[in-house]
Amino acid sequence: PVVTGMEVEEKPDVSYDQIGGLAEQVVEVKETVELPLKKPELFKKIGIEPPKGVLLYGPPGTGKTLLAKAVAHETNATFIKIVASEFVRKYIGEGARLVRGVFELAKEKAPSIIFIDEIDAVAAKRLKSSTSGDREVQRTLMQLLAELDGFEARGDVGIVAATNRPDILDPALLRPGRFDRFIEVPIPNDISRKEILRIHTKNMALAEEVDIELLASLTEGASGADLKAIGTEAGMFAIRDEREEVTMNDFIDAVDKIMGVETEEEYKKE
Ligand code: ATP
Repeated sequence: PVVTGMEVEEKPDVSYDQIGGLAEQVVEVKETVELPLKKPELFKKIGIEPPKGVLLYGPPGTGKTLLAKAVAHETNATFIKIVASEFVRKYIGEGARLVRGVFELAKEKAPSIIFIDEIDAVAAKRLKSSTSGDREVQRTLMQLLAELDGFEARGDVGIVAATNRPDILDPALLRPGRFDRFIEVPIPNDISRKEILRIHTKNMALAEEVDIELLASLTEGASGADLKAIGTEAGMFAIRDEREEVTMNDFIDAVDKIMGVETEEEYKKE
């Protein structure tokens, strides 16, 4: 089936060691998505159906896509990403057909991971008002539920959905046999920020004084995506000054730029 508006990657090159601060989440994802794909016979022997899908929830930029890609990498699976909000916006009247197409493609390309980003766009609690747009979204959701119920959980197609708004999801989606597991992907704490900063600075030419621990303490509230951006910005400052190393000052400037302005004073107080 030809479906535009989605992204297919044969075997994404993201591994678990590129994910910082989400050790528990990685274990859960391995158990619920990876294990059925790798060892379906375990489930058969014990006589239970493998989980069909997991829902990752948490703020933007915290590593949900990264987690889904890492499972696909680890299982040599095709990664099929669809962004639910774009689906409804772009393909008016076609959402349901497209959902069918995506599941067909996933079976064809199995083993595969279907990653549905921003699932809340098609799976918000049913509204009372009923404009034609709402009805369209409704039809798309119905098709999605039908696909989830219809495909046998053989394990060779794993479904990972992500949302920033778990509170508005239609409970129908969360019934057993649909999304069986919910995994929170939170904003990183101090220790996690350190891990993430280490990952994103690993290949950078850092000056000796660069203090990752201090940077972690200066970036409270930053997401993984923010921390990555801080590394890139710091590198850009060094390039602009034609230096061969990235200094702590570059990082402080980058933190200011990405996070706001008060950091520099805090650093000078130290
Ligand atoms: P969204 O809800 O916006 O889709 P997301 O949770 O899926 O966000 P990602 O797309 O996984 O976020 O993260 C964006 C980028 O930020 C990643 O490609 C990665 O470089 C970096 N990043 C985010 N979280 C982490 C993390 N926990 N460890 C390392 N890098 C991270």
